[in-house]
This record gives sequence, C-alpha cells and structure tokens, in this order.
Amino acid sequence: MAGLKVKKGDVVQMLTGKDRGKQGRILTAQPTEGRVVVENLNVARRHTKPRPMRDASRMGGTQMTPGGIIDMPVAVPVSNVMLVCPTCKQPTRVGYKTKEVKGETVKVRVCKRQGCGQEIDR
Ligand SMILES: [Zn+2]
Repeated sequence: MAGLKVKKGDVVQMLTGKDRGKQGRILTAQPTEGRVVVENLNVARRHTKPRPMRDASRMGGTQMTPGGIIDMPVAVPVSNVMLVCPTCKQPTRVGYKTKEVKGETVKVRVCKRQGCGQEIDR
C-alpha cells in the first residue's frame, strides 16, 4: 500500500460500527497497516490492575499506581473512515492536484465535493 490519503491531525468521520457518524482527529497514522488511531473513536475500555511503581522504593516504601479503567482509542482500518473537509465540513473523497510552491511541484489533497474543491492541505 502506497501511503494513506489521511494523516495525523486530519479530522475524519467514522463510517461503520457503533461510532458511525462521529468525528475525531487522527492521533496516529499507521500506513503500513492501513490503519489510523482517532481520538474518541473506536474506544476500548481497558481495566488496569494496581501495580508497584518502578524506582519508588528509594523514596521510602513501595508506591502503587492506582488501578482503574482507561479508555483508549483502538486503530481502525482507514477504509472505515472518511476525511472531513476543513472548508465545507463534510466527509469527502480525497483528490489530488499539483501546484508550484517556491519553485517546486508539490502534490496537495483536495476536496472532491462538487461546489467545494478546496485544498485540504494548507
Ligand atoms: Zn470541501
């Protein structure tokens, strides 16, 4: 797979599952796996047990990290999300165009919605 159409910092909308229709920002992109971790989407609840903290003994006594419940977003296949255009605020397919920036040709992503077509990368 040659790269993802979405990257860290993009806002995407979930297309499937319990979080369908919800939006969040990409925290981590995993291009080799074709997955992204999105804040507040596909959150898994993890129960952690209390355990001794490292290097706590020299501070007098063993301190314990509190156990508890942690909500962590789990990576989702990139095909399950759609980029939300920062201009029209709608989920959209991603197109590409090239433009000149300081004498170099760069590829930028554009919104494929009719009537928008704005650049996604600024
Ligand atoms: Zn747009």
